[in-house]
Amino acid sequence: MTMIKIEENKYFKDLTTFRVGGKIKYFVEVKDVEETKEALVFAKKNNLIIFILGEGSDLLVSDNGFNGIVIKFVGDSYKIDGNIVTAQAGLSWDKLVDITVENDLQGLECLSGIPGTVGASPIQNIGAYGAEMSNTFEKLEALNLEKGKIEEFDKERCEFGYRESIFKTKEYWQKYLILSVSFKLNKGGKPTVNYDSLKGLVNKSSTISEIREAVIKTRNERLENPKEHGNAGSFFQNPIIDKNKKQELEDLYPDIKIFPFGENFKVFAGWLIEKAGWKGRVHKEAGVSPKHALILINRTNKATAMDIYELSQKIIDDVSNKFGVEMKREVQLINF
Ligand code: NAP
Repeated sequence: MTMIKIEENKYFKDLTTFRVGGKIKYFVEVKDVEETKEALVFAKKNNLIIFILGEGSDLLVSDNGFNGIVIKFVGDSYKIDGNIVTAQAGLSWDKLVDITVENDLQGLECLSGIPGTVGASPIQNIGAYGAEMSNTFEKLEALNLEKGKIEEFDKERCEFGYRESIFKTKEYWQKYLILSVSFKLNKGGKPTVNYDSLKGLVNKSSTISEIREAVIKTRNERLENPKEHGNAGSFFQNPIIDKNKKQELEDLYPDIKIFPFGENFKVFAGWLIEKAGWKGRVHKEAGVSPKHALILINRTNKATAMDIYELSQKIIDDVSNKFGVEMKREVQLINF
């Protein structure tokens, strides 16, 4: 048996990109199944609630102490077998994208520059510039925490949706630790890009490596860098509305940004927030990014979780009053 190192002086604020969150009773990094099982034994023996952490880039954690054990899986190896790439969950997502682009494997290039780990990517089915992780997802392996057994999930079993998967549902949330994810990519494949925000930077003959560069450049310009101001990317989901609501909003606001979404429509939450006058506004130590209204920031890096939560609730209420559209948080609220 190896010896895992259980730490008792860790804070969520040092482990999340929002730089917010209280003290953790027990924290442990594990690099393989054996170590993970050891951590589970410790958790069971001490009757602890388990929280699985990646890079903490999609979380708002409360300042209350967390009375359980936080397990961070850090195994980060990968292998390429033809057009199938399998990476361990602890590999940084962008490192994986870089590796695939370097190997002329098309499919992940639009997802360049997204913070977080490979293991976190299926949970919210990360997406950007018209691509979603689920487009190239092949399968994943996860440890069932209760049974201590490894299970395989194919695409169907993951129930991917728009920034959604089965792992976000009550029955699965924090019940599985994702160990590795496999992607089926296209060797030498031709990329497609249809987002206006990338047009001008790429064209029909752009290579995947040029697309990766363009995405990273655009993201750096438009999005907040967590190294400057703590944040967790888009704080809100783009609300889905029906045909009637779309018509009503377009009659009132001809410049509104609405896109088809299956039989329904997706309205750009950033537009609603900006139009309601929130871009750049502050609340206590928190604020709405002056660069991008969809991102809430830890303005002074001293914000409490409540500062950010209150701001988000004010925005949700105001958008609901002004436009009759209900926005939901995309960021996961932990220990509230
Ligand atoms: P953008 O390219 O300016 O687009 C603004 C919004 O309009 C996005 O929400 C996007 O929806 C939608 N949109 C634009 N062109 C579209 C098209 N051709 N078809 C359908 N929908 C379209 O967005 P941005 O805010 O600068 O972000 C760029 C990309 O990175 C977006 O895809 C965004 O979702 C992604 N992103 C994700 C996060 C996160 O935390 N999850 C954070 C930042 C950015 P979609 O959001 O559905 O793409």
